[in-house]
Amino acid sequence: APAWPSNGFASLGRDFFTEVPTQALPEPRLVAFSRDAATEIGWSPESFDDPALIAHLAGHSLTPAPIATVYSGHQFGVWAGQLGDGRAHLLGEVGAAHQRYEIQLKGAGLTPYSRMGDGRAVLRSSIREFLCAEAMHHLGIATTRSLAVVASPLPVRRETVETAAVVTRLAPSFVRFGHFEHFSSTGRADLSRRLLDHVIDRFYPHCRDAADPVLAFIEAVAQATAVTIARWQAVGFCHGVMNTDNMSILGLTIDYGPFGFLDGFDANHICNHTDQAGRYAFQRQPQVAFWNLYRLGHALLPLLPQGEASIEAARAALDRYKPAYATEMEAQLRAKLGLAERVDDEADGALFDDLFELMHANRADYTLTFRLLSGIRRDSGAAGAADAAGATGAADAVEPGAQAVRDLFADRAGFDRWCDRYRARLALEKRDDASRALAMNRVNPKYVLRNHLAELAIRQAQAGDDGEVRRLLHILERPFDEQPEFAAYAGLPPDWASGLEVSCSS
Ligand code: AMP
Ligand code: MG
Ligand code: MG
Repeated sequence: APAWPSNGFASLGRDFFTEVPTQALPEPRLVAFSRDAATEIGWSPESFDDPALIAHLAGHSLTPAPIATVYSGHQFGVWAGQLGDGRAHLLGEVGAAHQRYEIQLKGAGLTPYSRMGDGRAVLRSSIREFLCAEAMHHLGIATTRSLAVVASPLPVRRETVETAAVVTRLAPSFVRFGHFEHFSSTGRADLSRRLLDHVIDRFYPHCRDAADPVLAFIEAVAQATAVTIARWQAVGFCHGVMNTDNMSILGLTIDYGPFGFLDGFDANHICNHTDQAGRYAFQRQPQVAFWNLYRLGHALLPLLPQGEASIEAARAALDRYKPAYATEMEAQLRAKLGLAERVDDEADGALFDDLFELMHANRADYTLTFRLLSGIRRDSGAAGAADAAGATGAADAVEPGAQAVRDLFADRAGFDRWCDRYRARLALEKRDDASRALAMNRVNPKYVLRNHLAELAIRQAQAGDDGEVRRLLHILERPFDEQPEFAAYAGLPPDWASGLEVSCSS
């Protein structure tokens, strides 16, 4: 049995968690594991051949006793009071000394924080979380990692009766904004301080030496959050449940529920069927993250000297979010469009804005639009092609690289106008087309976890065939590679996919 050495979080003491045994899943079956995540913690792929390990990952025979942590939070903008790990068990720490991970089972049974829940997770949502966390990591976005997903025939009641699964997650820390909100709401500044010292020591050591470590911490979390959210927006990721208890103090993407990658671009896309007001709609995410940071800042106020000056200082620290977001977003967009030279920032900004507006109006596929942009050449060749085709064929003579993108827009003329501006801008780049295309293809993924791809893998796994989950993981580990043998996975969603709905039910 693997040893789960000193549990970092457990050293905080009994006010932060409850020791609670798991309710192990019967007849566990390994659906898939991430070699990459396993390597990260020094586990060999062969270790997953051992039924004893799979049993552990289903919650069997775990010593020392796992813990469930207590936190609170704002859900959909409303104070929800105490929440906590209602179906997550923290086992301990794994990995090398220089990079330790906390290892957590999700879905291994009831805890004191389960409230109305059953402590379980269904196979459907477990596969979605397993795949998406790994996909995000390989897209270069900070996230919890997935080590494995284990399934069981145990029935679990949701809208229908489904079956249970457990995802094993890894993260340097699972501390959420909500942990601080919890101790602030219960008037325990002493515990907030203890938690803050713990996370600063381990993850933000530079804050220790700052004039005010609390303010430095707020600034650091604002910075990390800004970078992650900008990367979500750049890749078209919609989280779906950005409650403060789902916000990591490390800026990790955490809690994969009703998330979605944009297909046809709708700036107002709501991926969570339960979120009817659209609080967490795609383009609201940056603003919501800032709102959530304010809740964290508020929770940390008791650790600052009393008075107006501290409130102002905390506000200033939180405000770091805005330039941090703008800087990361601009860097992302420049890279996505292949604009390495700085010539006219305002004109470039308009080029970005107008592309998004056009994509939104045409519901152009988000991933494909950006991926195919790299095929556009700085000298269109269209004029030459038009000459060759003669006057009658001129209107259709578009160079093949541009044509592929153009096909995603119903408003061809609108796209052509934008494309002319883009080409003119590309002419100011020093790189040639080929090297620019290479660079763009390293930031604009060809493969993302579209809902319909996850759905097909889930249906097969529900029928006992895990091949598609494993194949998808393999593809999503190389999202920027061409992988021509998997080209079908990069295509537009099929018609049946438009009926897919994803809710909080998991
Ligand atoms: P979420 O919306 O996934 O962030 O969950 C909100 C809260 O509900 C957290 O405290 C979760 O631990 C808890 N929760 C969600 N689903 C379950 C479940 N099936 N059993 C117990 N607790 C749950
Ligand atoms: Mg959650
Ligand atoms: Mg959840």
